Amino acid sequence: MKRREFLKTMGTGTVVAGTGLVAACGPKECPTVEAAAVVAAGETFEWKMVTAWPLNFPGLGTGANYLARIIGEMSGGRITVKVYGGGELVPPFEAFDAVSRGTVEMGHAAPYYWKGKTPTAQLFSAVPFGMTASEMNGWFYHGEGLDLWRETYEPFNMVPFPAGQSGVQMGGWFNKEINSVADLQGLKMRIPGLGAEVLKRAGGTPVTLPGAELFTALESGTIDATEWVGPYNDLAFGLFRAAGYYYYPGWHEPTATLECFINGDAWRALPADLQAIVEQACKAATQDMTAEFTARNPAALEQLVSEHGVQLRRFPDDVLVRLKTIAAEVVAEIGAIDALSRRVYDSYMAFMAQVRRWHDISDLAYLEARNLGPR
Ligand code: CA
Repeated sequence: MKRREFLKTMGTGTVVAGTGLVAACGPKECPTVEAAAVVAAGETFEWKMVTAWPLNFPGLGTGANYLARIIGEMSGGRITVKVYGGGELVPPFEAFDAVSRGTVEMGHAAPYYWKGKTPTAQLFSAVPFGMTASEMNGWFYHGEGLDLWRETYEPFNMVPFPAGQSGVQMGGWFNKEINSVADLQGLKMRIPGLGAEVLKRAGGTPVTLPGAELFTALESGTIDATEWVGPYNDLAFGLFRAAGYYYYPGWHEPTATLECFINGDAWRALPADLQAIVEQACKAATQDMTAEFTARNPAALEQLVSEHGVQLRRFPDDVLVRLKTIAAEVVAEIGAIDALSRRVYDSYMAFMAQVRRWHDISDLAYLEARNLGPR
């Protein structure tokens, strides 16, 4: 019997041996107590989660903590997950290998970090000028997205789940204004994923650096610009002290889907009810991260502008159009790598084509309407 059904069938007053649970039935009505004790005393799992973030980093690190905590709570302690910051057990960008090899059971990162393993992974994370958080979730949970992602990680003996959405990010921190496409020439910018390739073809020099190294690189002039996430994260990193111009919109990351990936052997060793708990916990973590960013970004932006004198700038239209044109080429190339990447690309593009027709007359039209007349 599943734990949930068992709890429902129990009456009042009986303490279930070894579980600390108080049953809700009299002894005569509790024929399943023994069975429950067997389930409760069953195998427990002590997992380690490596992450690509500094420990407790706002939004991302705390998102990993949240996931670990609710898996423990929802499973009544049958799975405990200990979270490690990037570099504690393995460097941030080795989380994929560590989980693939089974050194640890679980990882929390962003799929685009693994483009060197499988370029297709980038389509599950952030596509320049691609889908937003709610659109990605539609594709994952009610389209083909999650099945295709699992197929992509299967050769690495890993099972992925969405485990967070950043929402639309900021365009980044720049130490000079970007007034035209010419200003991108030679621009040395930390930017991950497909956005990096787009910037490169637009004349810039993309650099990959883990989050912990951003501030120093920007402050010392090793790089001219960096993107990170949005006001909540960027304020915490103090990036406003290293560069004065804060650009929007985050054309390169209309959201970043964060991921939880689980070693295939560890996953298959879980009983079905614990698998369901992990899966639903990841879904809850996805929702919670969106909610956290929605709640925290506005106040952080206000603080950046009013207290720290940050100069907000919108990318000029001609810069965005140029980047968008290049992005279409770059993303299409991912879809031409092999048969699987073609299926992922086709599925992504078909879903986006349909959902944008709806969102043009729902979300977009509504937000425009809300800004008409007096605020
Ligand atoms: Ca970012």
